[in-house]
Amino acid sequence: MKQRFTLHTHTVGFDGEDTARDMVSRACHLGFKTIGISNHFILHPEINQAKFYHYAKIGGYGAIYSASYDEAMGRFVPHYDELSAIIQPRTQILRGLEVDFFYHPRWEREYLRAVDTLKPDYVIGACHIVEHDGRLYNIHDIKNANADVRDKLLDLYWQKVADAAASGLFTWLAHIDLPKKVGLGREQKWSDHEARAIESISANKTPVEINTRFFKPYCYEPYPSPRIMQMMGAKNIPVLLSDDAHRVSQIGGNFDIAQRMAHENGVNNFLTMQKILDFSNKTK
Ligand SMILES: [Zn+2]
Ligand SMILES: [Zn+2]
Repeated sequence: MKQRFTLHTHTVGFDGEDTARDMVSRACHLGFKTIGISNHFILHPEINQAKFYHYAKIGGYGAIYSASYDEAMGRFVPHYDELSAIIQPRTQILRGLEVDFFYHPRWEREYLRAVDTLKPDYVIGACHIVEHDGRLYNIHDIKNANADVRDKLLDLYWQKVADAAASGLFTWLAHIDLPKKVGLGREQKWSDHEARAIESISANKTPVEINTRFFKPYCYEPYPSPRIMQMMGAKNIPVLLSDDAHRVSQIGGNFDIAQRMAHENGVNNFLTMQKILDFSNKTK
């Protein structure tokens, strides 16, 4: 069965390159029954102090970060209104969020308030940033850290994935082995960390996406890796395909090969659209 929906996508105004309207048209053209737009909701009271925040501002995608509930609402309320105004009879349009999980005491309160205001159809949980010693590290900061700090940060990364699953706040988790984006965490020694995260994901019945954005000529696989897929298959963890499209040409990209690789590694519990919405209602 071919998946005919795509729920992990980004648009212009955040860090995507195309408008929501164009993304919807493309999904419709490909025969997708549903498209969800899930821009970044990365809220942390000290985000303005992070180095990567300044790079993002210069790069023109600072809008993915917010230091407060009010700042996030200033972006998402008009964005959701824009989505509501798009009419496409053949393709259902859903309103999602890709939310970074944080330990900061104010984070959960402000995040829950945002969900209460925006009422998203589903929420993708993500860990793009690790908190350590009062500092925020994104994936590139982790790569550039000294070797001992780097291992500590990777250790914290996997702990965070486990805790994001345990929080019960998310409909599913995104790209769970994100550090491989910068070549980290590939060695066998990380498999115990991965296994502990999968244990938490399984115990909390959290779905995980097979994210097709990673595929590289030198490493032809999605997130997560075959090693992690085998752990997921053994626990029958529910999955869906995500393209994480930041432009129209990426919609539905590599879905066939990713699904085949998942099956080859024992991952067979593919979710239907209805089941995903059921999961979403559970986390509300
Ligand atoms: Zn992401
Ligand atoms: Zn994304």
